[in-house]
Amino acid sequence: MIKTNNLSKTYRLGKVSVHAMIDVSICIQGGEFVAVMGPSGSGKSTLMNLLGCLDQPSSGSYHLENFDIKNLNQNQLAEVRNKRIGFVFQNFNLLPRASALENVELPLLYGRVKNSQILALKALERVGLAKRSKHRPNELSGGERQRVAIARAIVNKPAIVLADEPTGNLDTSTGNEIMSIFSSLNSEGTTIILVTHERAIASFARRTIEMKDGYIYKDKINSEIAV
Ligand code: ADP
Ligand code: MG
Repeated sequence: MIKTNNLSKTYRLGKVSVHAMIDVSICIQGGEFVAVMGPSGSGKSTLMNLLGCLDQPSSGSYHLENFDIKNLNQNQLAEVRNKRIGFVFQNFNLLPRASALENVELPLLYGRVKNSQILALKALERVGLAKRSKHRPNELSGGERQRVAIARAIVNKPAIVLADEPTGNLDTSTGNEIMSIFSSLNSEGTTIILVTHERAIASFARRTIEMKDGYIYKDKINSEIAV
């Protein structure tokens, strides 16, 4: 499903080059649940942005569902981002003036999908938040905001969900609730790739990839999985 070969990313800031990711070669099958760990600045977000086609690599190749990303034009990339991948971020990235329902509806409106309200409400139901559909983000708790963000990420039924420190702004018990949602999505077949600093959060995943200084130095199957 996901296959990268010597994928690298160098950011250039004037005369300075930052080698944010170096020769990352990974293979992730459909249905996997993967945690990406590593210290701040180790390249985790860079990897997520490349896997999510939000950014282009400096070198190396990336095949997503057997498509070489290099061969896709801007429209095709936008389609992949909208339909095949769901994104969840640490800061929720919700539109402040829109209701929970409208936030979830947005990817459907971009994709010109019919019955968008009904589908958005279903996605909110899926994360246990249908009763908050009319609330704006500032009327919701952090955990509820993240649920709205997850509903928005899954409303198009993507094959892959990419989450960059989704529990980073949440307390432990709210974080665990959010992780249960990811676990249940994964048990239904969605591929989940999630960045975290916390070992306890990573233990919800089946596999842990550890990054350091832009490269992968450990990639292992978790022996104990949280439920
Ligand atoms: P992490 O998510 O693991 O904290 P990042 O992938 O955000 O790490 O960053 C990896 C390295 O790349 C860091 O040194 C960071 O400063 C640098 N970096 C990230 N984004 C940019 C950017 N847009 N421009 C320049 N340097 C960047
Ligand atoms: Mg990061």
